[in-house]
Amino acid sequence: MGEVRDVIELRQVSKRYGRVEALREVSFTAPEKRIVGLLGVNGAGKTTALNVLTGCLPPTSGEILLDGIDLMREPRAFKRRIGYLPEKPPLYDEMTVRAYLTFVCRLREVARNAVAAHVEEIIGLCGLGEVRDRVLGHLSKGYRQRAGIASALCGSPSVIVLDEPTVGLDPRQVVEIRELIRTLGETRTVLFSSHLLSEVQQLCDRVVILHRGRVIREMDLRESGEQETLRLRCVIAAGEKQLLPTLHSLPCVRRVLTHPHERPDESHVTLECAVTPGQPEPQAQLFRLLTALDAPLRLLVPEGGSLEDVFLRATAEEEVLP
Ligand code: ATP
Repeated sequence: MGEVRDVIELRQVSKRYGRVEALREVSFTAPEKRIVGLLGVNGAGKTTALNVLTGCLPPTSGEILLDGIDLMREPRAFKRRIGYLPEKPPLYDEMTVRAYLTFVCRLREVARNAVAAHVEEIIGLCGLGEVRDRVLGHLSKGYRQRAGIASALCGSPSVIVLDEPTVGLDPRQVVEIRELIRTLGETRTVLFSSHLLSEVQQLCDRVVILHRGRVIREMDLRESGEQETLRLRCVIAAGEKQLLPTLHSLPCVRRVLTHPHERPDESHVTLECAVTPGQPEPQAQLFRLLTALDAPLRLLVPEGGSLEDVFLRATAEEEVLP
C-alpha cells in the first residue's frame, strides 16, 4: 500500500466490561481513502472496538487517533471527523428521510445555509431519491440501512464506520449496500465490521482480524507490486544472537518475527519472505544459508498466508469451545 497515510490509529486499546476483557491491547491502522474490514466471529469484540473507536464507549486503556487528533484530548474535533452507523441505527421512525438527515446535519453542526444542499447530495449518493419524503418507519430494511449510512455521512466526515452494514438484508440489498460502500471508499476512509470472509475479501483493501478481543492478523489485500508474501515458521538449532542478523541478510527476507521459547541454543522465528519470480524460492535460500552455518532446521512450516487460512483457523478454534 506504499505511501498512503494512516488516518485512524488505535494503540494498545483495551476494554473491560467488569471481568470480561472485550478488547486486549488492540492496535491497528486504517489508511486514507481505503476500505478496511474488521473481521471476526460473533463475540470477537468488533462492536466494542467500533464503539470505542467512535467515542461512544470509553476504553479502559490505550490511545485512539484520527488524523493525529487524540480522542481523549480533543473529543469534539475527533468526533466531527468520524461518522458512525451503529449495529442498531437510531432512526426516528416518524420522520421522513429528508427531515431526519436535516436533523442530523444540525446535530453535526453543518452551517444552516448549507444543510439543504448537503442533504440532497447525500440523498443522491445513497440512492434515497425515491424515498426522500417517506417516513423512515415505512421503509424496507435496505432503504433503512441506506438512511443509516446517509446519516453517518452528514457533516462530511473523513472516516465512516459501519457496524455489520449488510446483516439482515436480502441478497439484492446486500449487493447494493456493498456497492455503496465501494463508492464511499473512493473519497474517504471506510471501516466496517463483518463476520463474512467473502464480504471482506470483495470489498476491502485491508483486513484486521479480531479474535477473542485481540488482533490476530492485519493484512493488506491489494498490495501493489507483484510480489507474493510467504510466511515460514521455523525452529533452527542456533542461538538468536548468532542467527538473526544472518537471516536478515537473505535477499528474500522482509521481516523476522521472534517467538518466545526456553532454549538458548534454538531460534523460534517466523520469516516473512518475498517470493520473486526467477529467484530461488525462500525455502531453498534458507536451506543454503543454514547448511553454510551448520545450523540444523528442526521445524519448517509455511504458515497459512491466505486470509481464509487465518480466519478458518480462528473459527475452528472457536467451534471447540463449550
Ligand atoms: P457480535 O457480532 O456477536 O456483535 P462482536 O464481535 O461485535 O460480536 P462484542 O459485541 O464487541 O463482539 O462483544 C465482545 C465481548 O464482550 C463478548 O464476550 C460480549 O459478550 C462482551 N460484551 C459486550 N458488551 C458487553 C456489556 N455491555 N457488558 C458485558 N459484556 C459485554
